[in-house]
Amino acid sequence: MPHEAPKQVQHTQPTVEQFLDFMTRNKMNITAQRRRIAEAFFNYPGHHTLEEFYQHMQTLDPTIGQTTVYRTLKLLCAAGLATEIHFTDTVAHYEIVNAGSHHDHLTCVNCGKIVEVFDREIEQLQKSIAQRYDFTLLGHYHVLYGLCRECRTAQKEEDGELEEQMHSKLATQIK
Ligand SMILES: [Zn+2]
Ligand SMILES: [Zn+2]
Repeated sequence: MPHEAPKQVQHTQPTVEQFLDFMTRNKMNITAQRRRIAEAFFNYPGHHTLEEFYQHMQTLDPTIGQTTVYRTLKLLCAAGLATEIHFTDTVAHYEIVNAGSHHDHLTCVNCGKIVEVFDREIEQLQKSIAQRYDFTLLGHYHVLYGLCRECRTAQKEEDGELEEQMHSKLATQIK
């Protein structure tokens, strides 16, 4: 079997035009604020909570209220240009959806660090599971959570210290 060269995937950033298109198609009002929020969101990659993104928005335009930011993020999700991710906490994070680029997430339950991961086998496996149960797959939601190396090391040190304290306490009690 010939070795398959990795395909060059085109990562296409969503554009404000796509959002405006979606709004027009659904007969929704395109306000200057919504347009500005969409623009800011597309220019601010990462995983942000509403609060975080709102704080960022405040630095660009302090006249925009949090409700408007929230509603626009929801509209961006409905348009398929943003996605809402729930990690271990109840707060949703918002992220840009780049066409042709899919990834899942590994997250640390202690410090909240987020690592983007992609595994061809898992992707394939999800497709075959859907097929096996006769589902047309529209998407999936996959978050792996655990402890990152830094938090694991810190926890071990803390446990070690606790143990040491207990040992010396016992030692003084015995004396
Ligand atoms: Zn961590
Ligand atoms: Zn991500």
